[in-house]
Amino acid sequence: MVMRPFKLPFKLPLLICLSLLSAIAAVMFGVSKADALQVMLKPNTPMLGDTVSVWIATNQTTGAAPTVSVDRKQFPAFAMSPNRWRAFIPTTPLDKAELKQVVVTGDGLQQTLAMQLGDREFPTQSIWLNDSGGGSEPTDYEWDKVSAFKKIVSPQKFWSGAFLRPNDGEITTGFGVRRYYNGEFANDYYHRGVDYAGGTGSPVIAPASGYIRLVGTVAQGFLLHGNTIGLDHGQGVESIFLHLSKIYVKEGDFVKAGQVIGAVGATGAVTGPHLHWGLYVNGEAIDPVAWRYEGVE
Ligand SMILES: [Zn+2]
Repeated sequence: MVMRPFKLPFKLPLLICLSLLSAIAAVMFGVSKADALQVMLKPNTPMLGDTVSVWIATNQTTGAAPTVSVDRKQFPAFAMSPNRWRAFIPTTPLDKAELKQVVVTGDGLQQTLAMQLGDREFPTQSIWLNDSGGGSEPTDYEWDKVSAFKKIVSPQKFWSGAFLRPNDGEITTGFGVRRYYNGEFANDYYHRGVDYAGGTGSPVIAPASGYIRLVGTVAQGFLLHGNTIGLDHGQGVESIFLHLSKIYVKEGDFVKAGQVIGAVGATGAVTGPHLHWGLYVNGEAIDPVAWRYEGVE
């Protein structure tokens, strides 16, 4: 009875106190009042070799694409639905496992997210070369063609869902394997793909849809990669298939997921027949496992 009149005046200071707290929080954590720029990383604790999807929600429908950068390298963002964008950050075994800053700008705002890039052990191989053996060097023509292919970023997205296994053969060398040459660790080397031990002539299928943007043959000078197909899945995602015996496609063809595009061989610098499949994201060879099993959108 006596308490009641006291309750109303007590609520007001509490409300003021709460709004003051949230204002302090907004300043401390850089959250804008209208939440105009929201950013989400997937996975948010990536490991070396993972592809990080950066999802961005903006308020403006008509604004320019947001920008995403890490270590001053910029990665393109694509509109996925109204006000929603996605960029890919590729990570590789050559990256440092450390705290990275992901800087996103859009709608005239900037957000910086901390991303802890986790360490990961990759298997190692020891290769012994004798003096007379010499390494296989790519020809200039081959080098230029492959480099140009890896730089392609086309705006459309041609894949959807998980990627298919490109060959039935068992995996003999997985992604990311590091090497010692004559006992010395090769700092710049990692296995930029997955090797499948399919026999000569066994089918190579497109793991996802896209446009054929590279066809190279031994006859043209593809001495290291051998007969090669480059397949553009769009938005900076590309497959490369090496050491083929046969190629059934030509540059400019559109192929569907599951379509046979070539046959396994032993062309180029190899010790035996196998398919090397490399999956590239914004120019870097990443671990295809998440792409094969979970699917990356
Ligand atoms: Zn390989």
